[in-house]
Amino acid sequence: MVPRHPPPGEVTYRRAIAIGAGEPVGAGVAVTQALVLNATYEPLCVVPSRRALMLLLDEKAELLHPTERLFRSERMALAEPSVVRLRHYVKVPYQARVALNRRAVFARDGHRCQYCGAAAENIDHVIPRSRGGMHSWDNVVASCRSCNSRKEDRTPHEAGLVLRCHPVQPRERMWAVIAGGALRPDWEPYLGTAAALSA
Ligand SMILES: [Zn+2]
Repeated sequence: MVPRHPPPGEVTYRRAIAIGAGEPVGAGVAVTQALVLNATYEPLCVVPSRRALMLLLDEKAELLHPTERLFRSERMALAEPSVVRLRHYVKVPYQARVALNRRAVFARDGHRCQYCGAAAENIDHVIPRSRGGMHSWDNVVASCRSCNSRKEDRTPHEAGLVLRCHPVQPRERMWAVIAGGALRPDWEPYLGTAAALSA
């Protein structure tokens, strides 16, 4: 009878549970967040990296990208997760509403003015609120200060401005990722470009 040996990683994780992994240490920025993907690679949410580590330890997820830092205990070191993917598909029962705020709009619009392409500094209501425009995803865009002040209480047409693309609500669960805060470069392949976030 051949003794069954678990793969080395499994041993490491189980021992880590017993010991209790400490806080991550290492050079670089203080990363404490990890991106969680569904089994389909669709972004699901952002969680503390320690929580993502627990998903790995429980074998509920696989590690796609580590950071350069380590969770250290007395006897071992585990890579701090940056992106993990759930092993089993999680059904998302409903499309929660996207929180409409400055950060989310900037992320959707790639931090660019949607009139001239300069760095975004403001949020602009395409149809001004004073003219009955709604504070909704299809009526707000990122804009530079110059375009924003040039437009004032006018429509883009009246101000001689042209929108680069029609604003829409970000699709899927991108909102959860946006709401999570800073985006790491190694998340980008799973999040797509700013243009791809809205459809
Ligand atoms: Zn502009």
